[in-house]
Amino acid sequence: MNEAKFIEELKKININLTNNQIAQFQTYANFLLEYNQKTNLTAIKTMEEVYLKHFYDSLTLVKIADISNGNLLDIGTGAGFPGLVLAIAFPKLKVTLLDSNNKKIKFLEECLKILKLNNVNIVYQRAEDYAHQNREKYDFITSRAVAELRILLELGLPCLKVNGSFLIMKANVSKEEQESSIETLKILNSTIDNILELDLPHNEGHRTLIKIIKKVKTNNLYPRTYDKIKKKPLK
Ligand code: SAM
Repeated sequence: MNEAKFIEELKKININLTNNQIAQFQTYANFLLEYNQKTNLTAIKTMEEVYLKHFYDSLTLVKIADISNGNLLDIGTGAGFPGLVLAIAFPKLKVTLLDSNNKKIKFLEECLKILKLNNVNIVYQRAEDYAHQNREKYDFITSRAVAELRILLELGLPCLKVNGSFLIMKANVSKEEQESSIETLKILNSTIDNILELDLPHNEGHRTLIKIIKKVKTNNLYPRTYDKIKKKPLK
């Protein structure tokens, strides 16, 4: 997907970028590809793939939620997906990018200096630790390609406000993964509001977007330590 096609496809989902935002995406793409030559951040190596599989893909979230306003935490953001892309497209959204990998955090800090965004905050921490200090704080939590559903729910839901939305992005979610998360959702007092299956333009890949709504404040017991979450996911 080249830049012109990116702009055109975004119009179809009601995102109309300004010239400044288009320039910010160019800066982000160039910096990512250049940085990626010396430090491995992403398997994606071409400009066309960056626009399709990172930028456009991140913005498909608008199909399941209005994320133009409020505050958002992106867990396991990596090189900024979807969080940094959302911050460029929605300047009124306050975005916190969280990752436990120092290499990714260094990239994000450098990238932010050149993008000159004032709605982004970067946190170098493990999600399970951050969650204990930042409870019920966010309108939205996002997470793309980070962990199995049951694990993600325990990591993310404590940080979400009651009635807030946890927006999970994955390539595929198996029936077993979905079914095994039902009990986890009950324990964490949350429900699935929407599951959207979609294909990227030109059949460039299948995607699953899951929207979860939190109904009641999360018990302070959660999240447990990561080894406990991993060894015995909530069910
Ligand atoms: N979301 C990005 C994307 O889609 O391109 C990155 C996905 S990458 C496969 C997973 C990221 O999650 C890594 O950067 C990793 O460091 C981060 N991660 C995994 N578990 C984490 C945790 N418990 N706390 C914070 N970050 C975590």
